[in-house]
Amino acid sequence: MDFSEFNDRYQSDLDDCAFETLAVRAGQVRTHECEHSEAIFPTSSYVFNSAAEAAARFGGESAGNVYSRYTNPTVRTFEQRLAALEDGEACAATSSGMAAIYAVVIANLKAGDHLLCSASVFGSTIVLFEKYLRKFNIDIDYVDLLDLNDWKSKVRPTTKMLFLESPSNPLNDVADLAGIAAIAKAAGALFVVDNCFCTPAGQQPLKLGADLVVHSATKYIDGQGRCVGGAVVGSKALIEPIIGVLRSAGPTMSPFNAWVFLKGLETLALRMRVHSENALELAQWLAQHPKVATVNYCGLTDHPGHELAKRQQRLFGGVLSFEVKGGREEAWKVVDATRMISITANLGDAKTTITHPGTTTHGRLSEDERKKAGISQALLRVAVGLEHIDDIKRDLARGLDAL
Ligand SMILES: *Cc1c(COP(=O)(O)O)cnc(C)c1O
Repeated sequence: MDFSEFNDRYQSDLDDCAFETLAVRAGQVRTHECEHSEAIFPTSSYVFNSAAEAAARFGGESAGNVYSRYTNPTVRTFEQRLAALEDGEACAATSSGMAAIYAVVIANLKAGDHLLCSASVFGSTIVLFEKYLRKFNIDIDYVDLLDLNDWKSKVRPTTKMLFLESPSNPLNDVADLAGIAAIAKAAGALFVVDNCFCTPAGQQPLKLGADLVVHSATKYIDGQGRCVGGAVVGSKALIEPIIGVLRSAGPTMSPFNAWVFLKGLETLALRMRVHSENALELAQWLAQHPKVATVNYCGLTDHPGHELAKRQQRLFGGVLSFEVKGGREEAWKVVDATRMISITANLGDAKTTITHPGTTTHGRLSEDERKKAGISQALLRVAVGLEHIDDIKRDLARGLDAL
């Protein structure tokens, strides 16, 4: 069989397929070895049949691999699969989620530009913006994720990018993505969404008007805590300059990690469904627990973002937070009474994790900044895993019942 003909037909047949099918099959190419699972290509460089072929490859006149900082077949398969799942034309895989965000801002912003960012983004994103972007005379303003007027009023003639995460961490606030996309469009700015919490199984921001989606593949895309990686998805025209940054600066994805993430994508829809089901059941159980003051989960009908989440998300996600009655002492008691749940700030794992944001992920903030962000000392965040929900509840009950 002619494999290139087979591979072309195989990929074009996938155009009509559903998410679950794309998650298992998109991007795969078969070689003459007839492998069923995707092959890993652990090679730094590639050979040519002649000096003329080498010259043509280097000159860009003929397509093909030259060096793995530029392209690698396993990484390409991951990129094509994730692009298909986000309904984007193209994807650039990166060495981490932060490398994805770094590449997006470096490719698109220059001195004198202005960036609008929601106040409730990942801690390292703020450090990247504040400590490094500012050095290059890029100005940054932070916005209330939920307040469209705040987004609108902070736009300047120099605003080139709007950046946010939704649902937010750890309060599960839900941004109106289509509304913010319209503000970005009117400003002639790029709209970038960090889709780490929902994954494309739960939300496809490009369909709601985002220009670029960034991912920490480290979280749900791997889903089992094995590898660090990231990706950017969008139109070919927007991904090309990002690939340019990656090729020159170097934070590309390793073929082994790409293979792990490919295997993660195959079960993404299944896993996200169970993460969400478990999180909803845990949220409902916590909401009626006498030692719990409040629960933040957009799957709960009384959460302020519930209706919006129902409209723009296919599922509510696996992360929730709650306040115990009391303060830091009571919250720590609940953490310390767990025996199964992992005490770690990581999320997006088969294993349930618990963290006290006030003294970990948000510990660097001043008391005043924490108050503004809605993070009290009584707050705990749980990234609900794939264990049986009864066992997750039992482990949390140990601490709560003892308060
Ligand atoms: C973890 C995380 C990142 C950073 O990803 P890394 O893979 O750790 O570099 C960015 N955004 C969100 C929302 C995250 O949770």
